[in-house]
Amino acid sequence: MTLRQTRGEPYHPRSMPSRKQAVTTSSGRKQNASGARRKIPVAVLGGTGTVGQRFVQLLEGHPWFEIVEILASDQSAGRSYAEAVGSRWKLTTRIPADVAKLRVRAPGDKLQGRVLFSALDASVAGELEHEYASRGHLVSSNARNHRMDPGVPLAIPEVNRDHLKLLDLQSYKNGGGLVTNPNCSTIVIAIALAPLHRAFGVDAAIVTTFQATSGAGYPGVPSLDILGNVVPFISGEEEKIESETQKILGRIGPKGIAHAEFPVSALCHRVAVLDGHQMAISLRFKTRVSKKRILDAWEGFRPLRKLNLPSAPDQPIEARPENDRPQPRLDADRAGGMGITVGRLRPCPVLEWKFEAVGHNTIRGAAGAAILNAEILVRDEWI
Ligand code: NAP
Repeated sequence: MTLRQTRGEPYHPRSMPSRKQAVTTSSGRKQNASGARRKIPVAVLGGTGTVGQRFVQLLEGHPWFEIVEILASDQSAGRSYAEAVGSRWKLTTRIPADVAKLRVRAPGDKLQGRVLFSALDASVAGELEHEYASRGHLVSSNARNHRMDPGVPLAIPEVNRDHLKLLDLQSYKNGGGLVTNPNCSTIVIAIALAPLHRAFGVDAAIVTTFQATSGAGYPGVPSLDILGNVVPFISGEEEKIESETQKILGRIGPKGIAHAEFPVSALCHRVAVLDGHQMAISLRFKTRVSKKRILDAWEGFRPLRKLNLPSAPDQPIEARPENDRPQPRLDADRAGGMGITVGRLRPCPVLEWKFEAVGHNTIRGAAGAAILNAEILVRDEWI
C-alpha cells in the first residue's frame, strides 16, 4: 500500500524531468518508455567521511541507485574522489572505479542526483540539507540537525513507515523533501523495542551503551584516550537516545507525531571496539509479560518481508540463545550489517526484563539506514 493510497488519493509521480516517462515495476524499480531499466541517480554529501565511505561501499552495484556525484568540503572539492579520500579510506573493499574518478563537488554546487544521501558533518548539514531539499532533491540524512523537527520523519521503515506521510506535508517544491534516520545507538534500541512496545506497551527503559570508535568519525577519539580504556561521555548522545526513541515510537496523527511518553534513561560509553554498538537495556512494561511472549514478538517482527527491498534484512531482529551473545565482533555484520541481534533476556530486579543488543553503527546506524529509507520511498512511489 502506498502512502497516497493510504490517504485515499491517486499517485502522481513527482516532477523530475528525467523521470517523466518512468513507470514502477513490480520490483519497485523504474523503467523508461522503451522498457529498459534505469537506475535512480544519487549523490553522497559528505562522501569522503566515515559514513560517506560506507555509502559509497553499500551503493556499489545497488540495483536501484547509482552514484553520480560526491560532495564534500572545500578542502576536497575539485579533486577526484580517490585523491580527496586518499589514505582516509578505511574499508576493506576497494573504492569502486566509477566513483574513484568522480570530481568532488563543493557545498552549494548544482547537483543532478534525485536522492542526496547526507553524511555531512553536523556543523554544515542543517543548512545544506535544507538548501538542497528546497532545490527539489530528496535528502536522506544521517545528521542530527533535522531529526527532531516536527515536520521531518525520523524514519525506520520496519518501525514507523507511516511517519513518512510527513513528507507530503513539507513545504519543499518540485519533489524536494527531507527524511532522517536515527542516531546510531537509537536505531538499535528503537528496533528492539518496537515489537515489544506495540504488543505490551513499554513503561520505562534504561539503556547503557558501549559504542564503537567508528561512531566518532575520522580521526575520531585519540588512541591515547581510548586504548585500554572506557570513556563515559559522548557529547549529546544520551539526550539524542532519550528524545529520538520517543519520537520514533510515537504515533502519527492529524497534528503530527505524538511522541511515546515512557521515560528513557541513557548512559553512554565509548569503548575500544572498531565497529558495532552494544547496549544493555532494562525495560518495564505496562502489563506483565512472559519471556516467551517477548521472544515471540521479536521472532515474528518482519514487517517488510514481502516488499523485496534490496537492503531490508529478512529478519530485522535475531535473538541469540547463547549466554555470551550478542557481541560486536561476532554479530554486528549480521544480514550485511542491517540486522540487529539481541540476547541474554532475563528478569531485571529493578524494572522487569533486561537484555543485550548489538547493531552495526555505520551500516544499520547510518548509511544502510538512509539507503533503506530511500528504498521504501521508491516502493511507496514517493521517489
Ligand atoms: P566524518 O568522518 O568527520 O565526515 C564528515 C564529512 O563531512 C566529510 O565528508 C567532510 O568532508 C564533510 N564536511 C565537513 N565540513 C564540511 C563543510 N564545511 N562543507 C561540506 N562538507 C563538509 O564524520 P562521520 O562520522 O562520517 O559522520 C557524518 C555525519 O553522520 C555526522 O553528522 C554524524 O553525526 C552522522 N552519523 C555518524 C555515524 C557514525 O557511526 N560515524 C552514525 C550516525 C550518524 P571533507 O572530507 O572534505 O572534510
